[in-house]
Amino acid sequence: MADSKGNGASAPGVNGRAYTFEDHTFDVVVVGAGGAGLRATVGCAEAGLKTACISKVFPTRSHTVAAQGGIAASLQNMGPDDWRWHMYDTVKGSDWLGDQDAIEYMCREAPAAVYELDHYGVPFSRTESGRIYQRPFGGHMQNFGKGPPVQRTCAAADRTGHAILHTLYGQSLKNSAEFFIEFFAIDLIMEDGACRGLVAINLDDGTLHRFRAHKVILATGGYGRAYFSCTSAHTCTGDGNAMVLRAGLPLQDMEFVQFHPTGIYGAGCLITEGVRGEGGYLVNSEGERFMERYAPSAKDLASRDVVSRSMTIEIREGRGVGKESDHIFLHLDHLDQEIIHKRLPGIAESARIFAGVDVTREPIPVLPTVHYNMGGIPTNHFGEVVCPIDGDVDHVVPGLMAVGEAACASVHGANRLGSNSLIDLVVFGRAAGLRCAETIEPGQKHRDLPADAGDLALSRLDAARYADGGTPTAELRMNMQKTMQSNCSVFRTGEILDEGCGLIADVWSAAADIKVTDRSLIWNSDLIETLEFSNLIEQAVVTMESAANRKESRGAHAREDFKDRDDENWMKHTLVFADTDSKKVTIDYRPVHSFTMSNDIAYIEPQARVY
Ligand SMILES: Cc1cc2nc3c(=O)[nH]c(=O)nc-3n(C[C@H](O)[C@H](O)[C@H](O)COP(=O)(O)OP(=O)(O)OC[C@H]3O[C@@H](n4cnc5c(N)ncnc54)[C@H](O)[C@@H]3O)c2cc1C
Repeated sequence: MADSKGNGASAPGVNGRAYTFEDHTFDVVVVGAGGAGLRATVGCAEAGLKTACISKVFPTRSHTVAAQGGIAASLQNMGPDDWRWHMYDTVKGSDWLGDQDAIEYMCREAPAAVYELDHYGVPFSRTESGRIYQRPFGGHMQNFGKGPPVQRTCAAADRTGHAILHTLYGQSLKNSAEFFIEFFAIDLIMEDGACRGLVAINLDDGTLHRFRAHKVILATGGYGRAYFSCTSAHTCTGDGNAMVLRAGLPLQDMEFVQFHPTGIYGAGCLITEGVRGEGGYLVNSEGERFMERYAPSAKDLASRDVVSRSMTIEIREGRGVGKESDHIFLHLDHLDQEIIHKRLPGIAESARIFAGVDVTREPIPVLPTVHYNMGGIPTNHFGEVVCPIDGDVDHVVPGLMAVGEAACASVHGANRLGSNSLIDLVVFGRAAGLRCAETIEPGQKHRDLPADAGDLALSRLDAARYADGGTPTAELRMNMQKTMQSNCSVFRTGEILDEGCGLIADVWSAAADIKVTDRSLIWNSDLIETLEFSNLIEQAVVTMESAANRKESRGAHAREDFKDRDDENWMKHTLVFADTDSKKVTIDYRPVHSFTMSNDIAYIEPQARVY
């Protein structure tokens, strides 16, 4: 790591307390070592750029490691497929809120991106003839949605994310990327509307680090932990999204939060859609396979929002299972034990540990659980962050890029299809690397940082470190999570959302009274959880406000008081800004890209979304 230092150290002060920065200079700094961050890191490093990757957890502990089911690409290994069919399914899945140029880019590039992973060494499951094994997944169909389901999701058993992450970490090291592991990024350094770098703290020894770079790529993942019950890791606190809000830039489409139909009842851990892809099905208390009623053609493999709503209706109408009739059963006990053993070993283990169930004999108790954030940092299909300025709706913010779940390209629109996140990570991670290679000369000269570089980060850090109010962080976090769970859920109404806006604003204000007991800078989990909470609450607020503002139902945003999609008034992206000082939220819009990138496929006209 020695050669990255060398700009010496500087010692600014906050509130009369001195802090010392260690300075680093890189061509590119990637924040995040999940699938998206690592793929971008590999790309930049391969191009000869001096690349740093910062991660608050050890790279292979990023949430991507938990991805089970697989990665979508129209390889045609198991039957006919076409990237245009994949594109059609993704546009339909997005409920026509996705940008069709970005979706074309993703689906067209997907096969090459998967073969590249294969060549990097990802141990995919194989067919008899040695090709990459592919399984069916919800919403992926043949023939422009006409069906039947297509086998498009490439899998390494039920540990696909694990396999991808370990392989990409190895490739990053091979290409001499520098890792800053267990470094927590606090805030961006912005100057005249451009990003110049960022400030991070080394969790292990409490030292502060200032990074200067031509490009910062945010790959910090989602913010599932704003909710009480979610499938994501405790680290999914949307830190990058919050840094963007504090830089005065907007987030996009934050009202669209995906509930996965099958979280284990009580524990929240995920049971992959791959289980239904392999033949598993849902039943209610009457033993009925109720999805046949809601989605006669795709049934249990309808899109996630459709299945989650159907389950919620079954429970509400008194047909839930269990003592309190408050969940649903997922059966795979009819499947061949050999298939379970070979293709779903991790699921059998999770069900045994978290639900006490032997899947070869009994059903798994499941419930819709928060799983994915469609919204995030708005970008174009190169991964460059955009923010409207002076009538230029796609104005690029110099120096700042975003990829992965933190970003909103927008390929998932109002609802993401299963196995389309992993492909999003590698396609756009790769695109970001290519863009950096195109726009930066290795070793290109850097300007000096502005005199106040790092002040924002230091003042936040210092304020949290010495917070001496009356409310512990854990209490505020619980209030936020419970409010999001009850007021911004699978079904929404104006009344419940308005109440939610009030309740969540109260939590935001109450954060002024936060109490941190440990004042040290070394492995201070109280301090880091407080910084994470302050990131989460900003996103909770903008999610609730965006949901209350959108008066239609589209994809994952299901309003009982506005049941239909309203293309005339609402086929547009929400942009939301938050002023953390005045606690004011403002909403604006960006048009959906209703054009494709090439003439190989025409714009897919909006239709009713039925499965
Ligand atoms: C249980 C589960 C199963 C899933 N299964 C599938 C599947 O089968 N197929 C599919 O397509 N999708 C799946 N998904 C979705 C998909 O896995 C995620 O959307 C994706 O992995 C997110 O990747 P990412 O690279 O954007 O972020 P993550 O993998 O979440 O990584 C975020 C990175 O950012 C770093 N970071 C964050 N904040 C900071 C900070 N302040 N300072 C420094 N570093 C920071 C973290 O350390 C981490 O390295 C699943 C999700 C879950 C939760």
